[in-house]
Amino acid sequence: MKWKLGARLAALFTGKKFNEEFYEELEDALIEGDLGGRVAMEISDKVREAAKKQRPDTQDDYRILVKELLSDRISEYRPEPPKDSLSLYLFLGVNGVGKTTTVAKLASYYGKLGNKVVLAAADTFRAAAIDQLALHAERLGVRIVKQSDGSDPGAVVYDAITSAAARKDNLILADTAGRMHNKENLVRELQKIDKIAAARIPQGNYKKFLVIDATTGQNGFSQAELFHKAVGIDALILTKYDSMAKGGALIRIGEQLGIPVAFVGTGEKYSDIEPFDKESFLNALCGIE
Ligand code: GDP
Repeated sequence: MKWKLGARLAALFTGKKFNEEFYEELEDALIEGDLGGRVAMEISDKVREAAKKQRPDTQDDYRILVKELLSDRISEYRPEPPKDSLSLYLFLGVNGVGKTTTVAKLASYYGKLGNKVVLAAADTFRAAAIDQLALHAERLGVRIVKQSDGSDPGAVVYDAITSAAARKDNLILADTAGRMHNKENLVRELQKIDKIAAARIPQGNYKKFLVIDATTGQNGFSQAELFHKAVGIDALILTKYDSMAKGGALIRIGEQLGIPVAFVGTGEKYSDIEPFDKESFLNALCGIE
């Protein structure tokens, strides 16, 4: 897979004179790669400064320089639920980003690591969402806590916590709604769930993941801003990483909101998820082979 920015940078760094025009083109490429204007300007300024001091000789030196500058702005997050106490991972994100699929993939992932996983169908806004998660639970052989559609998502999470504690499950994965009648309703619902979970799950075991779609570019940043402001996000999960995509939004989110990245989704199968690998992500982003 080739990232658009990677391809553009690879072309830019090939056979160019490193002059003003080059730095302007670099800035344009970074903006088009979804890093956001401010980050793009800072990076191209820093490359210019560093190039004066370090005098990079080859195009590869420049690419490595850009990679180093981007590297400070993004980090990996490796969530490991303890086996001897209850954890709750809440999954947030707008409809269609791959949230429900991600919950199912992670049920399989964490199950294989020896966790006792239970799903919570807290997207009660869409009847189909409950059915979809229930189908995954059946296929995976994982227990699910659900209520009828239209019920209170906070109550679903509450039930899941009570039953997980009774059955000694150690990990609840909770799907949430990505849409409501309006944004205010959605935020209010999520804040309610957040309060319930935060009050009942041991300190440090409750984590909130925002799922974003790699193909949506800058929208990913506005989504992160919205959800981060509403409940505070611990880490991102980037889906559809297998598609031809722009990944710069992760850098902007990392830089401006300080949110690290936990997992990437790489397809539609249950096994198509892997921990985020910063090194290979940055290599792909910068067009380094
Ligand atoms: P939700 O509305 O956020 O819960 O999204 P869904 O989980 O229903 O997923 C929406 C679509 O994206 C489905 O067709 C999924 O199969 C697809 N999808 C989810 N994750 C990935 C991924 O990592 N790669 C690809 N190619 N498709 C994905």
